[in-house]
Amino acid sequence: MRIRCPFCGERSHAEFSYLGDAAPTRPNIGTRATVPDTTLFVDYVYMRDNSPGVMREYWQHVGGCRSWLIVERNVTTHAISNVASAREQVLAATEGEHP
Ligand SMILES: [Zn+2]
Repeated sequence: MRIRCPFCGERSHAEFSYLGDAAPTRPNIGTRATVPDTTLFVDYVYMRDNSPGVMREYWQHVGGCRSWLIVERNVTTHAISNVASAREQVLAATEGEHP
């Protein structure tokens, strides 16, 4: 499998490290002043869908620029349909949330 890093170009998957599913979002489990609902956080950490088809996954280019990437990959065929910088996607998604 080959992954096209947006910064380095196409490279062998051996240069990358897989982190996992990029779909789950971290839940707000409250503050220290309140008793947090840890069930939400346990589900976030451990419960994952394992379905065939296209998934968004976090990968890091450890053998290159060390950037974190979001790779859209068919987990059945390993065909990659899109690779993007995770940093840029998070910044675009959270634009305007922080002063
Ligand atoms: Zn790279």
